[in-house]
Amino acid sequence: MTYKGKVAVTGAGGFIGHHLVSYLKAEGYWVRGIDVKHPDYENTPADEFLELDLRYWDSNLIATKGVDEVYALAANMGGIGFIETHKAEIVRDNTMINMHTLESARVNGVHRYLYTSSACIYPGYLQNESNPAPLKEEDAYPAAAEDGYGWEKLYAERACRHYREDFGLETRVVRFHNIFGPLGTYDGGREKSPAAICRKVALAATGDSIEVWGDGEQTRSYCYIDDCVEGIYRLMRSAHHDPLNLGQDRMISINQLVDMVAGIAGKKIYKAYDLTKPQGVRGRNSDNTRLRQVLGWEPAVSLEEGLRRTYTWISGELTRSGQMEPRGSALATA
Ligand code: NAD
Repeated sequence: MTYKGKVAVTGAGGFIGHHLVSYLKAEGYWVRGIDVKHPDYENTPADEFLELDLRYWDSNLIATKGVDEVYALAANMGGIGFIETHKAEIVRDNTMINMHTLESARVNGVHRYLYTSSACIYPGYLQNESNPAPLKEEDAYPAAAEDGYGWEKLYAERACRHYREDFGLETRVVRFHNIFGPLGTYDGGREKSPAAICRKVALAATGDSIEVWGDGEQTRSYCYIDDCVEGIYRLMRSAHHDPLNLGQDRMISINQLVDMVAGIAGKKIYKAYDLTKPQGVRGRNSDNTRLRQVLGWEPAVSLEEGLRRTYTWISGELTRSGQMEPRGSALATA
C-alpha cells in the first residue's frame, strides 16, 4: 500500500487526537498514535498505537522515530474546573512533554511539527468584558496568559519558533478556541462547558434546574471537532509558521448555550447559578481574519448542528451506561 507519508500523533488517546488520527487515515497516511491511554469511547484506527508516557525523553525518541511529521497534541489538561486547580501538575507535565517531543523530533529528523496551543495564551486584560473585541493573533503580546496552563502553552509556542529559526524544523502552531463534539470527555471533572451542559441537560427532567458556573453571562465561541481536525491538517500543509487561531467567531453566553441545548433536548430547563465556581475569563472570541487569509477556509459546522450531534452522542452514552432513562434522550424535532 502506498501512503501519503508517515506521521505521529501524540495525545491520540484523547478527544482531538483520536479524531485527527481518523482524519489522517482517511487522507491516506500511515499513522502512529501515542498516548498514556487508548481512546475512551472507541478503538483507534491508527496503524500503530504506542502506550508511552511522553514526559520522559526515551519515550519521545521512540514516539517520533521514522516519521515525516508530528502532530503534538499530548497534554495534561481539562476544562476550567481542572486547569484552575492543578497548575503545578499542568506546568510540570506539559513542559516536560512539549520540550522532549520537540527535541526528539529534531533528533529524529522530522520535517514538520504542529503544536497545539490555546486561546488561553491571550492576555486576561483583553477579556474582562462579556462583549470583548475578538482576539487577533498579535494580541498575545504584551503577554498576560492564563496562569499555569496558558503560560506553559505560550512558552511552548516560542520554543517552536526558535526550533524553526535556529534548527530549521518546520513548525506550525495552532491556537484552539473551545473545541467540542462527540467522543469528548463529558464527566469526571475534566469536561468542558458544552459537554458538561449536554450531560446536565440530558440527566435533567423537563422543569428541573441545572447548575451553571458563575452568572452565565460569560461568553465564548465554540468550534465543532470536524472543522478542528480539517483546520489542523490545512495548517500543517500550509507555509504559515506563525501561531494561528482555529475556532468559530460566533460568540455566545453560557446562558444562551444552556438554552440552545435545552431546545435540542426538547426540555424546559431552569438555571441555578453557583457564583463560587470558576468561570475563567469574562468574554472571549476568535478573530478569524488571518485564518481566512492563510487557509482560504474557515470552520463551517454551525453551533446548533454541532451541539445536536454532541447532545445525541452524550445522551446515548448516558443511556448505555444506565445513568439516563431511554425516554430522556428523545430529541426535539424542531
Ligand atoms: P484530551 O485531554 O482529550 O487529550 C490529551 C491527551 O494527552 C489525553 O489522551 C492524555 O492521556 C494525553 N496525555 C496526557 N499526558 C500524557 C503523557 N504524559 N504522555 C502521553 N500522553 C499524555 O485533550 P484534547 O481536547 O484532545 O486536547 C488536545 C490538545 O489541544 C491539547 O494539547 C490541549 O491543550 C489543546 N487544546 C484543546 C482545546 C479544546 O477545546 N479541547 C482548547 C485549546 C487547546
